Amino acid sequence: MARKKLMAANWKMYKTPNQAREFIQQFLPLVHGHTRDEIVVCPPFVNLSAAIEAAKESNVAIGGQNLHWEKEGAYTGETSAGMLLAVGCTHVIIGHSERRQYFGETDDTVNLKLKTALEAGLTPIVCVGEVLEEREANLTEDVLRRQCLRAFHAISAKKAAKLVIAYEPVWAIGTGKTATPQMAADAHLLIRGEAAKAFGQELSNQLRILYGGSVKQENAKTLMSEQEIDGALVGGASLDPKSFAAIVKY
Ligand code: PEP
Repeated sequence: MARKKLMAANWKMYKTPNQAREFIQQFLPLVHGHTRDEIVVCPPFVNLSAAIEAAKESNVAIGGQNLHWEKEGAYTGETSAGMLLAVGCTHVIIGHSERRQYFGETDDTVNLKLKTALEAGLTPIVCVGEVLEEREANLTEDVLRRQCLRAFHAISAKKAAKLVIAYEPVWAIGTGKTATPQMAADAHLLIRGEAAKAFGQELSNQLRILYGGSVKQENAKTLMSEQEIDGALVGGASLDPKSFAAIVKY
């Protein structure tokens, strides 16, 4: 069965609540009736309520950009799965390379967060990908294998049903460089193989693997036509409603 693509916006640290509301109000008519793909927008935490209110009863879901693995506690600045669910989030990004690079996210914290998100019933979008030095040193496969193995550790196939992976070569994020569809397809096949080892063939066949890294209107169709690419995680080009709608409708 064909996998329904997931088109996800990662707003990073951009927009205020008013700007988030405005975006959703302009975006909804542009994707009205679009059911071919699942659409999710992930704004900063302080904008979640505004975005959720504006997107109510639409075909656009709202997700967080991170979560903590504990239910609650003395973790200043953190947000739990229960809090995301309580405001109406359905998705959450885990292990984005910017969190790995600047905020000490590790393969082990990704695993803890993934377990928590799945347990809570959120749809996790787990980011994996190599940095430029790793690609140039021919280490891409090793890195992806390690990231998957550690992220999937001690998670059952039953629990992993909602899992989504985003392959984001770090050298392609925010740089204007994109992986070729073939490069992405090779990486996705490797990730799918790791998922098969961890969760079995059936789940692996259903697993959606998104591509992220400078996806824009101009390259969306070529990338999304690749059979192994099950959607996109879009940063910069998702900040403008017309641009993100054009990507969604590629
Ligand atoms: C991202 O933030 O996940 C991303 C892929 O960013 P960009 O589309 O700007 O490269």
